[in-house]
Amino acid sequence: MRTVTAYATPGPEGPFAKTTIERRDLEPGDVLIKIAFAGICHSDIHTGRGEWGATHYPLVPGHEIAGVVEEVGAGVTKYAVGDRVGVGCLVDSCRECENCKAGEEQYCLKGSTGTYGSVDKYGRHTDGGYSEYIVVDQDFVVRVPEGLGLDVAAPLLCAGITVYSPLRHWNCGPGKRVAVVGMGGLGHMAVKIAVAMGAEVTVLSQSLSKEADGKRLGAHHYFATSDRATFKQLRGTLDLIINTVSAPLPLDSYLGMLRLDGAMVNVGAPPEPQSVRAFSLMGGRKSLAGSAIGGIRETQEMLDFCAQHGLGAEIEVIDAAQIAEAWDRVVASDVRYRFVIDTATF
Ligand code: NAP
Ligand code: ZN
Ligand code: ZN
Repeated sequence: MRTVTAYATPGPEGPFAKTTIERRDLEPGDVLIKIAFAGICHSDIHTGRGEWGATHYPLVPGHEIAGVVEEVGAGVTKYAVGDRVGVGCLVDSCRECENCKAGEEQYCLKGSTGTYGSVDKYGRHTDGGYSEYIVVDQDFVVRVPEGLGLDVAAPLLCAGITVYSPLRHWNCGPGKRVAVVGMGGLGHMAVKIAVAMGAEVTVLSQSLSKEADGKRLGAHHYFATSDRATFKQLRGTLDLIINTVSAPLPLDSYLGMLRLDGAMVNVGAPPEPQSVRAFSLMGGRKSLAGSAIGGIRETQEMLDFCAQHGLGAEIEVIDAAQIAEAWDRVVASDVRYRFVIDTATF
């Protein structure tokens, strides 16, 4: 075992504290990664504050991990010491079920192992990226392409793949009108990626306060959802809506903006249930769907796509001491557009 520094929350109320955790000795297929940057995802907050159900504490969150390989196990073939790599939300899965075999490990029928807040095959609670080092099986490690800084790449490991996957699955591209609801961590990456895929992109934000940023990221249109006129103006116009909002929304109003055969895909994960009227879907043969992160192969594809198009996250790099404050700012929609913890400040 290797003792490493980490930041953990002792319970739903915090406060974050510096601590030490144990990382396992390298198994033959394992890679030891020195973490350089860890993004702060809203899911860290939902989990850390116990909003999604029981959480095992102390919790070391963090599933947007970018760093450098420091050591490899005897059987590692994919990575070498010095490689720039990333780890997202998954560190293991059964690898045998039909979904794993299809490269959709996030939908493993036996339940994939989360980077934090899970119990791994060794029977240990997993600890995430708010730490100095992590040990991960090479099959759940991806390569950060040259040209993408580790700091701007870190958020791609969750925020990037979570929007890339449904954009691909629902055929985002030229001729498609795509709206992104919520201009936060996921939302701003959805804008960048959908624009790079060639779609006509609309941002639906609570207000117009971030309009200049949205346009700078490539959005063609920007509307405030606090203005009821938005829903009227966009009625029946959109092919695809990617909803990244962390709180419940009046889904019927949003579905009204879809055109025939349009789809609204929820990637935001509010703890509360949401309701929808049958008629909102029937009128216009519409779909309401969900999507969770992406598989390992698709995560690599997303990183390569982002590198090719020069797409990193818009980030605010913070010290370890600022984690709690950053969480509060995320909850207040005061994030431009992803906080990234610099582990050199541990
Ligand atoms: P975030 O940075 O906080 O972004 C969410 C955005 O939603 C905010 O910036 C805000 O955008 C908007 N919003 C917040 N509260 C709202 C409200 N009450 N009404 C309307 N809009 C509101 O969070 P994130 O890290 O992008 O994560 C977003 C959600 O996705 C979270 O629930 C997270 O757990 C979930 N998630 C899911 C997956 C998955 O696999 N499906 C992966 C990662 C995260 P505006 O200010 O522009 O309105
Ligand atoms: Zn996440
Ligand atoms: Zn499986």
